[in-house]
Amino acid sequence: MATFTINMKDGSLQKDRDIIIGIDLGTTNSLVAYIKDGEAVCVPDEQGKNVLVPSIVHFADNAAVIVGDAAREYLISDPGNTIYSVKRLMGKSYKDVADIKGFFGYKIIDEDTDSLVKIKVGERFFTPIELSAHILRTLKVRIEQILGSEVSRAVITVPAYFNDNQRQATRDAGKLAGLDVLRIVNEPTAAALAYGIGLDPSERETIAVYDLGGGTFDISILQIHDGIFEVLATSGDTFLGGDDFDKAIIHDWLDQLGMNEVQLHSNKSLSQEIRLQAEMAKKALSSTDNFTGMVAGEAVSMTRSHFETLIAPLVERSLNNCRQALQDAQLGVDKIDKVVMVGGSTRVPAVQKAVAALFEKPVFNSVDPDQVVALGAAIQADVLAGNRRDLLLLDVTPLSLGIETVGGLMDVIIPRNNKVPSKAGRQYTTSVDGQKNLRISVYQGERDLVENNRKLGEFVLGGIPPMPAGLPKIDIQFILNADGILTVKAKELRSGLAQEIDIRPSYGISEEDMARMLLDSIQHAQSDMKIRGVLEARNEANNLLLSGNKFLQQNASILSPEETEQTQTLLQQLKEATQTEDKDLIHQAIETLNDYTSPLAHRAMDVNILKAMKGSKI
Ligand code: ADP
Ligand code: MG
Repeated sequence: MATFTINMKDGSLQKDRDIIIGIDLGTTNSLVAYIKDGEAVCVPDEQGKNVLVPSIVHFADNAAVIVGDAAREYLISDPGNTIYSVKRLMGKSYKDVADIKGFFGYKIIDEDTDSLVKIKVGERFFTPIELSAHILRTLKVRIEQILGSEVSRAVITVPAYFNDNQRQATRDAGKLAGLDVLRIVNEPTAAALAYGIGLDPSERETIAVYDLGGGTFDISILQIHDGIFEVLATSGDTFLGGDDFDKAIIHDWLDQLGMNEVQLHSNKSLSQEIRLQAEMAKKALSSTDNFTGMVAGEAVSMTRSHFETLIAPLVERSLNNCRQALQDAQLGVDKIDKVVMVGGSTRVPAVQKAVAALFEKPVFNSVDPDQVVALGAAIQADVLAGNRRDLLLLDVTPLSLGIETVGGLMDVIIPRNNKVPSKAGRQYTTSVDGQKNLRISVYQGERDLVENNRKLGEFVLGGIPPMPAGLPKIDIQFILNADGILTVKAKELRSGLAQEIDIRPSYGISEEDMARMLLDSIQHAQSDMKIRGVLEARNEANNLLLSGNKFLQQNASILSPEETEQTQTLLQQLKEATQTEDKDLIHQAIETLNDYTSPLAHRAMDVNILKAMKGSKI
C-alpha cells in the first residue's frame, strides 16, 4: 500500500515514507494497529484470526527467540527461559522491584540496587528494554507482512502513571526494534480516542477509564478540553487482573478434585492443564451460564453465578480503587460524563455490572476491550501523520519538575498537571564569590525539600568566569517534549557558556511511590512550609554575612573602632541565629544588622564616590 502526497511548495510527487502505526505494548498482550481505508484496525496473525500477541518471550536451547503464542507454551515447561510481564520491570531498578521479585518465574539480577534491573536467561543478561524490543519487533514484522512494505514510525501507549524512566525505557525499546517512536501516549487517552472522545476540540468532558487486564488494574480520571487530556487522578492495583480470576477457579477446582496446591505445583503438566482450562472456563462464562471441562481425567464444572461469587472480592477491590480515584480528583460520580471499559477482563459481565452500578451510568463497551488501546494509538498516529488536521492531542505531567536551590529547597519550574509539551525557565545566580561551577540537580515531586522528592539527574555547568557572588546570570530552561521526556538547558548569560542534558534518570519509581509522593506532599505541607521559611531566612542571612564581612574589609579606614566592633558583634549574632531553626529570630537579626549598617554603608558610598571623582580628570 503505497500512498503519495503532493509537495505544496514545488508540486512534486512524494512517496510517503511509511505510515505511522499504533502499538499497545501490554503486560499480558500486545497489539499493533493502523488506519485502513479511514478506519482503525488491529493486525491479526497469519491465519487472520488472533490480533493479540501474548507479551511473552522464550529463549530456546538453539538461541532462537520465540515471541507470543508459541512462547506461552513454555511458561510452565521452561519458566527460567520464558519471560512474561516484562512491562512491570520497565525503567525500574532492582531496589524498586525487590519486594515483587518472587512474582516472576525467571531470574532478576541484583548487581547494583540503583541501576536498572537485568534478567538472566541461561548465561546471558537482558534488560527489560531488550525483551520489550523483541515483542515490538514481532509486531513490526506482523504489520509489514500485511502491508507488504517496511514501517519505521510508531506511537506506543503506556499507563498514565508511567514516570519519565518508564516512558524513556519504552521509547528505547522502540528504537531497538527499529521504530522511530514519535509519541508515547497514555493508555486511557488512547482508549478515549478509540471512542472518538476528545476528537472534537470544542467538547469538554470528564471521563473515567476502567482498565482491567491480565495482571494489573488501572483506573484513570481524565478531563478533556481543547484537545488536552488532563489526568485528574489515577489509582489501581499492580497485582489485580484476569490471572486472579483464573486462580479463583483453579482453587475451587482443586477442592472439587480433592487436591492441594503443593500437589498441583509438583506436577507441571497438571498445572498447565488446569490453568488453561480455568482461563477457558472464565472466557466461556462471559457469554454462557455453564462450563464443563476435564482436568486430570476428571470432569470439572463451573456456573456463572458460582464464578461471580468467587470473584466478588476481587471486583470489590477494583471498585475501591475507583472510589479512591474519584476522591483524589474531588469528583462525585455525577461529574463523570462517560465510563470507558478497557482490558480483556472487562468482558466479564459481573465486572461491567459492578462498574456501571458504581458510576450510576451505562458503561462504554462497544469497542473490543482488548483492542481499544491499540486502535486509539492508531488514531493518534493518524493525527501525527497529519491526516486529521487541526488536532493536537496533549497530555499533562503527573508530578512537578524543578531544581535544587541553596539549602536543599525544591524550586518548581514546571508544575504538576502542566500540559505537555511545555517549556519554562528561570534565572539563577551564584552564592559564592568566584564560583566557577554550578551543579544543577533536577528533581520530580511535590515536596518543598528536594531530599523528599525524587532525583532525576544532575549536571555541572563548569567554567563560569570568576565573578562576585550574585553577578552571574544563569538561565535554566526546562523543555518537556510530547512524550513527557525532559531536556534541561543551562546558560550563563554574561559569558554565553551553555550546557544541556536529556534527563535519563538512573532508576524508576513505582506507581505506589508516585501516589505516596503526592500524598506526602499534602500531609507534610505545613511542616514543609515551616522548613522552607527557615531555609529561605538562612539563605538571606548567609548572603548578608558574606557582604557584611566584605564591607568591613573594604571600608576599614572610614569606620571608627566602635563601629567596626559593633558591626562584628551584630554579624556574629546573625551567624548564631542562622544556626537555630527559628526563622523569626533570623529575620530579627537581619533587621538589626541592616538598621545599624545602612547609615555606615551610605557614608562609605559617599566617600568612595568622592575618591572616584578626585581621581578622574575632566
Ligand atoms: P493487558 O492489558 O494486561 O496486556 P489484556 O487487556 O489483554 O491485558 O487482558 C488480558 C486478560 O483478559 C486475560 O486475563 C484474559 O484471560 C482476559 N480475557 C480475555 N477475554 C476474556 C473473556 N471473554 N472473558 C473474561 N476474561 C477475558
Ligand atoms: Mg492493557
